[in-house]
Amino acid sequence: MIKMKKNDFEFVTCDYCKSRKFKKIFESKDYVNFISGKFQVVKCLNCGLVFTNPRPNKSKINYFYPDSSGYYQPEKPKENKGIIWNLNKLTLKYYFDYFSNKNKNKLKKIVLYPLLFYKIRDFKIKGIPLFKENGNILDIGCSYADFLYFMKQLGWKTTGVEMNKTAASWANKNFKVNVKINTLNKFNTQTKYDAITMRMYLEHSYSPYNDLVKVRNMLTKNGELIIIIPNFNGLESKIYKKYAYTLQLPTHLTHFTEDSIKKYLKKIGFKEIKIYHHKTDRDLIAPLTILKTEGKDIKILRLLLTNKIIRKTLVKAFINILSILRKTSRITIYAKK
Ligand SMILES: [Zn+2]
Repeated sequence: MIKMKKNDFEFVTCDYCKSRKFKKIFESKDYVNFISGKFQVVKCLNCGLVFTNPRPNKSKINYFYPDSSGYYQPEKPKENKGIIWNLNKLTLKYYFDYFSNKNKNKLKKIVLYPLLFYKIRDFKIKGIPLFKENGNILDIGCSYADFLYFMKQLGWKTTGVEMNKTAASWANKNFKVNVKINTLNKFNTQTKYDAITMRMYLEHSYSPYNDLVKVRNMLTKNGELIIIIPNFNGLESKIYKKYAYTLQLPTHLTHFTEDSIKKYLKKIGFKEIKIYHHKTDRDLIAPLTILKTEGKDIKILRLLLTNKIIRKTLVKAFINILSILRKTSRITIYAKK
């Protein structure tokens, strides 16, 4: 095992306002890969941005992204068939303009709405862009590109950017979705994209500000940016604090809230910003295991919530309500250029 040294870390100014003044919120550990070390989370005293500080240098960060990490484990794509897929198709057709929107029955769209309300929300949470004829989509930090594969099947021309060679090569071999082995920072292109997605990417970025400026320039006029990030102000984050599952230190460098991401997007010139809250029960349950490893086991609660039946009924219902109330710890943001 490599031992990290003090100068493998760097102190940084606030990415949003460049202030050097911040206060410590807490210290925590790597509960994803269990690589040793303590990492500090701070809040900017000027603008309120929460970020990891100090953070690993760029030259050392790969150490915290082992190939064994869940980021790079490909899953077999689901087959697009059956009743669920038919409901998905209806939703995508009437509310996301897929499958040729000519002759679309407006009355049918109104009638179907209550039936498909949850499906529409699910697709919004998943970060599905509105369809664009002959459109091209760029996914940044695409990992093994299951999302791009789905987009390709729906008629998009796809490009991905992924720094992990194993994941990128796997995606190109199996999905043929045009993944470039690169970082966004070094990725240069003249191409303009109709949609750009950053799915669980931006919290890992060394400068969200520079990245958002860059992707805005790569979008076509009215192009759509879709971001998925953890929400530091979510209820699960507030309950579990330094043990929150979405914290993922030290690879999560910025800990966004709805307010902080909106501020970024508005400052950079994005418009029509909309936010959807996820309904991931893992954020409620996984920290209970983390607490156990830390000798702070809440045994009754852990056994109760991890019970299969309770998890599928009560926990699922609870997290659904939280999501509708806009309180959960992961969000999808839509914005336009
Ligand atoms: Zn600041």
